[in-house]
Amino acid sequence: MSQDWGDGTRCVHSGHSEPVVGEPLLAGPVFATAYHLDGAAGRARPDYYARAGNPTWRALEAAIGELDGGECVLFPSGMAAISTLLRAFLGSGDAVVVPSDGYFATRTFIAEEMDVSVREVPTPGPWPDFTGVRLVLLETPSNPWLDVCDIRSLVDSAHAAGALVAVDNTTATPLGQRPLALGADFVVASDSKALTGHSDVLLGHVSTVDHALAERLRKARTLGGAVPAPFETWLAHRSLGTLDLRLARQSENAAALAEALGAHPAVRKVRWPGLPEDPAHEIAREQMRRFPGVVTIELADAATADRFVAAARLVSAATSFGGLHSTGDRRAQWGDPVPEGLVRLSVGVEDANDLVADVIQALDAVAT
Ligand SMILES: *Cc1c(COP(=O)(O)O)cnc(C)c1O
Repeated sequence: MSQDWGDGTRCVHSGHSEPVVGEPLLAGPVFATAYHLDGAAGRARPDYYARAGNPTWRALEAAIGELDGGECVLFPSGMAAISTLLRAFLGSGDAVVVPSDGYFATRTFIAEEMDVSVREVPTPGPWPDFTGVRLVLLETPSNPWLDVCDIRSLVDSAHAAGALVAVDNTTATPLGQRPLALGADFVVASDSKALTGHSDVLLGHVSTVDHALAERLRKARTLGGAVPAPFETWLAHRSLGTLDLRLARQSENAAALAEALGAHPAVRKVRWPGLPEDPAHEIAREQMRRFPGVVTIELADAATADRFVAAARLVSAATSFGGLHSTGDRRAQWGDPVPEGLVRLSVGVEDANDLVADVIQALDAVAT
């Protein structure tokens, strides 16, 4: 792939093989448990048993790897990617630093499933000295407050202390931010969100520029057995072609919504890193290539938030984010340590005018 190509071109063409007359533009999923073996080459061939390898995975791994700027290892979910990474690189008693405002399942997994010492730090900081730390996990923008941290400066201080750095890049996607180029050892992501964007696939990945680290992850995947299904992998590759288009529209819609929401008396707080007055704006503007299609608002209380989502015709009550359809999620219902009236709005690709009008009428309805 040409390094000069823009995001749209890269999304459409990444991971595609050279054209072959009579073959499809994007090859369909390969369903196989076992592959015909060449008696002499045997295991040396890329495919012999489905838990160890599949050509549909390799095509998507090539595509995401090109966008991330590294070598990609695919997993069946974001949590499979994160848990495999943590298990592969943390030993008993190791110290790990994680964001206190980051994805709740990651924090719960570390607290309940791993024998490590954890230090939780809010994404905006202040960040501690990393002496004695084995792995620093960052999530920026964080979930659901959308706070941002300076990846390059945290990578520098973590590396000086001998720690590895992984960045959860789910919200940004590789088009929004490239943590490997900022020095991170790993990018981890849930590809169930904006990367695939149709709310129909569960998938995740880890990327790294270090081939030995990628091999270690592949071995952990093959032995651990949490491997992606070929059909989901193919659906994700098909969806990747429109990532640039979808993100552009979502970001544009988020800008219009954030501005309109900020001016409404029923909204106590609006957070979106693209707003010039947002506390995360300065670093986000320098570090990110585009702003995400997620806007977080705080309303008076749980009942107001629930009534708001119910009154919005174009915002479905649903968790997750990054899909074509706008959705709203009152995060406290899942036990997130956030105000009861906090709603994370996942902004879809509807028309901005329709979305803004709908959200404002819903706010008017709950404000009276
Ligand atoms: C959704 C999410 C995950 C977990 O991904 P799954 O695909 O649901 O397993 C991890 N990190 C972040 C930031 C997420 O939003």
